[in-house]
Amino acid sequence: MERTWKRTGDEVAAAAERLRPARRMVVFTGAGVSTDSGIPDFRSPDGIWRRYDPRQFTYQRYLSDPGARRQSWRLRREFQAMRPRPNAAHLACVRLAEAGRLQAVLTQNIDGLHGDAGLDPELLCELHGNGRFVACLSCGDRMPMEAAVARVDAGEEDPACRRCGGILKATTVSFGQALPRAVWERAEAMAASCDAFLAVGSSLVVYPAARLPELAIQVGATLLILNREPTPLDPLAHLTLRGECGVLLPALVDALLEAA
Ligand code: NAD
Repeated sequence: MERTWKRTGDEVAAAAERLRPARRMVVFTGAGVSTDSGIPDFRSPDGIWRRYDPRQFTYQRYLSDPGARRQSWRLRREFQAMRPRPNAAHLACVRLAEAGRLQAVLTQNIDGLHGDAGLDPELLCELHGNGRFVACLSCGDRMPMEAAVARVDAGEEDPACRRCGGILKATTVSFGQALPRAVWERAEAMAASCDAFLAVGSSLVVYPAARLPELAIQVGATLLILNREPTPLDPLAHLTLRGECGVLLPALVDALLEAA
C-alpha cells in the first residue's frame, strides 16, 4: 500500500512539474467527480445504467413515450432525495480558480455541485445543462426541480405543465438532443485557448463533449487524464493519473500551487 502511495505521489509530483507553466487551465469534469458526493455515474459497476435502460433516456423517447418520462421522473426523485454536497475534487477546482490558474471548468455534470462549491459562475460552463430546474417544452415555463418532484411524490407520475399542459423536462441535455449552440461555442473557445486541459472523472465516450480534449491537443495544450479506469483518449494524453478524483485532484492542485 505504502509503495502504491509513493508511486502515486511521484506521479502527481511529475504531473505538477509538467503543468507548472500553465496559466490558462481548463478542467473538464464528468460524473466521476461527483461519485464521492454520493451521486452514481453512468458506467461504473454501481452506475445508473445497471438499473436503468439507457435507451429509455433519449430525447426522442422522452417526447414520445410517457413510460420513458415516468422512468426519468423516478430517477429525478432519487437524485432529489440525495441532497449531495461538493467534495474535495470540486473544492480543488475552486482553489485553482482562486490562484488565477483556471480559465474554465467545462462540466458534463448536471448536479450543480461546482457552483455549490463556490466556483465563480463566469468560469463555469455546464455543457449538459443543470438538473435543478424544469421547463415546459411547449411554453417555456420554468420551475425548480424540487417543485416538480413534489408533484411526483404526490402521485403525478408524469407531471404536465400547469400553464399549457405541455411536457415538462429537466433543463438538461439528453442523449439525442443538441447542445445549445452558445454553450458549445464557449466550450470550444475555452478548449482552443487553454494551455493545459485536465479531463477528470469522465469515461470520455460521450460526444460531442469528448471532442474537447482532442481540440485542446490540436492547439498544443498539455492533456492530463485523471480517471479510475482507462479511457479511449489515454493514448493521446501527455499525462495520465489513475485513481480517485477526490484524492488525486486535490493532491495535484496542492503540488501545483506549492510549486508556483
Ligand atoms: P461516465 O459514467 O461515462 O464515466 C464516469 C467515469 O468516472 C468512469 O470511467 C469511472 O470509472 C470514473 N469514476 C467514477 N468515480 C470516480 C472517482 N471517484 N474517481 C475517479 N474516477 C471515477 O460519465 P461521464 O463521462 O461524465 O459521461 C456520461 C454522462 O453522464 C454525462 O453526459 C453527464 O451528463 C452524465 N451524468 C452526470 C451525473 C452528474 O451530474 N453527477 C451523474 C451521472 C451521469
